[in-house]
Amino acid sequence: MDLSNILFWLGLGLLGVIFVLLHWPRERRNPIATSKFGKIIDRPSPNQDDRDGPVSILIQHFTAMDTTEAAIQRLCDPAAKVSAHYVVGEDGQVYRLVPEDKRAWHAGVSFWRGHKNVNGTSIGIEIANKGDEVEGYAPYPQVQMDAVAELTREILSRHDIPAQNVIGHSDIAPGRKPDPGPRFDWKWLYESHDIGIWPTPEQQDYDASKTWADKDVRRALTKYGYSTDVDLKTAIDAFQRHFHQEVFFKGDDGVGKADAETCARLAWLVRHKSNSADDVE
Ligand SMILES: [Zn+2]
Repeated sequence: MDLSNILFWLGLGLLGVIFVLLHWPRERRNPIATSKFGKIIDRPSPNQDDRDGPVSILIQHFTAMDTTEAAIQRLCDPAAKVSAHYVVGEDGQVYRLVPEDKRAWHAGVSFWRGHKNVNGTSIGIEIANKGDEVEGYAPYPQVQMDAVAELTREILSRHDIPAQNVIGHSDIAPGRKPDPGPRFDWKWLYESHDIGIWPTPEQQDYDASKTWADKDVRRALTKYGYSTDVDLKTAIDAFQRHFHQEVFFKGDDGVGKADAETCARLAWLVRHKSNSADDVE
């Protein structure tokens, strides 16, 4: 080995050491820089400002746009005045638009368990999906749901968010917002990844709810967290989007109706809900 060869290998070794020193601390400081679905891509949005409280709610949305890129561009457009913390593409790629310690503008006029305008205390995930109600709603590819689940689990590990507060945009803005829609698989998220809550009513829930009048349904919805600002049919529609999605695909006009299964699931949820001082009773 001559001198130039030795210098070459020494130089290469030195470059390697410098590379590791530059990158190692950054990865250690930021645990979500990589995921098994690939690196999170930063696409910073100017549509953000300061939070007004600690994070206690996580909101899932669909983008209702043709492509992931179109959605990101809109969520980064200062004129649109909307954003989210994350966007999950149909291929499972995760984009970060707003840091979690800042307020993103994803929820708008909203209500959940006594909290109004939840942007200040929530994290918003926009999931690329055309969300076309007329066409019967687009499915979410499994690779995308896997990424949503992994991202959501990571967020839940960083913040104190009760299971009851992992919800959809439609839960906090009934009638005004339809997302993430009846094809978003909340049951799978709960059963496979312990995300949120999924009701499994027992006989006592069917028995307790079978004589419910409208006012009893309303009272239970309010107790669980839903707004009273909309008519009962709209509130039941929002509940079913999350907890009884089958009614949207049966074609028998069950959407917005308090059928036995809807009431039993609601009764079970109220029975199992967490008790929090800031609940509306
Ligand atoms: Zn939304």
